[in-house]
Amino acid sequence: MSIEDLAVPGVRRLTPYQPGKPIAELERELGLSRIVKLASNENPLGPSPKALEAARGALDALHLYPDGAGFELKAILSHKLAVDAAQITLGNGSNDVLDMVARAFLSPESAAVFSQHAFAVYPIATQAVGATARVAPAHAGERGPRYGHDLTAMAALSDEQVRVVFLANPNNPTGTHFGRKDLVAFLKALPDNTLVVLDEAYFEYVDEPKYPDGIALLKDFPNLIVTRTFSKAYGLAGLRVGYAVSSPEIADFLNRVRQPFNVNSLALVAATAALDDTEHLARTVKLNRRGLKQLSEAFAERDLQFIPSVGNFITVDVGRAAGPVYDALLREGVIVRPVANYGLPYHLRVTVGTETENQIFLDALDRVLSP
Ligand SMILES: *Cc1c(COP(=O)(O)O)cnc(C)c1O
Repeated sequence: MSIEDLAVPGVRRLTPYQPGKPIAELERELGLSRIVKLASNENPLGPSPKALEAARGALDALHLYPDGAGFELKAILSHKLAVDAAQITLGNGSNDVLDMVARAFLSPESAAVFSQHAFAVYPIATQAVGATARVAPAHAGERGPRYGHDLTAMAALSDEQVRVVFLANPNNPTGTHFGRKDLVAFLKALPDNTLVVLDEAYFEYVDEPKYPDGIALLKDFPNLIVTRTFSKAYGLAGLRVGYAVSSPEIADFLNRVRQPFNVNSLALVAATAALDDTEHLARTVKLNRRGLKQLSEAFAERDLQFIPSVGNFITVDVGRAAGPVYDALLREGVIVRPVANYGLPYHLRVTVGTETENQIFLDALDRVLSP
């Protein structure tokens, strides 16, 4: 009898999530001092100063458990989003909420649907509870953006066995998105008893007229669960806080599997303050828009194909196996993200940094790709 035999079948076959390489790890490995990390879609401007001040103010009460109900953060969110507080489920990052959905609604008898090239947490959450994963092929480029979710193919896979469909809008690592019309048609085509998780981790960055606000669709589609996070545009990835908005009934079930104090007290106060700092958010979004332009123009100049992105990252085809390019960039002190595990072996995903960081990356890329 081995430990492997003891593990439940879904977990036995699980490959752990591969995070971006931390700066300190590269420092230890290569002894480099100037390192630019564009690997985890973090905010290059850092956290909002208001969020930092709030977190500092909460340090003296760290001996106390956090408010397990997250009353204040939920109150502010409910006001801002015009939903009832009972519709909100707070998570230790939105990944935590995705996991709660899987634990509350999936089992070895049911299945989940997600797209090819979709965010890696969907297969992990599905497999961990022993449910079957059904992967819909992504668009080939005719009826929708190449590499993007093909909602028609996803609906076709969604029969009675399917309890949860995971959609990322925009998706990571492709940066692709779908419009309101396609989403509504998809939701109408689904059986009522299929839950749809609409992951809007990059919502704040998107500036497209046809991009749907998932929360506005909740009143028409009670099977919808919209997830958002403070990790990306709000710059609080290190604190781990995100949330779901759904019907109160769904939120009730998510809360039954939620760890009692899943969101820590620093995260609660910092997120509450960050919501108030609209100036920091606006600066973040503006910097990102310029950076996306800087990187996409630079890729085009170099004849490198990239996937047009509406997020705070861009995925580029380096025209050869991307693993060695990633390694060579590390030696230049630039951390990006290889995405072979997403079925994209020739691509690298690059987070949009400051103008200077983007330029450091581009210069390093030129050195690495030059013959
Ligand atoms: C980064 C990301 C998240 C957010 O993760 P957190 O747990 O909130 O930090 C969720 N979904 C997608 C698609 C992401 O890229």
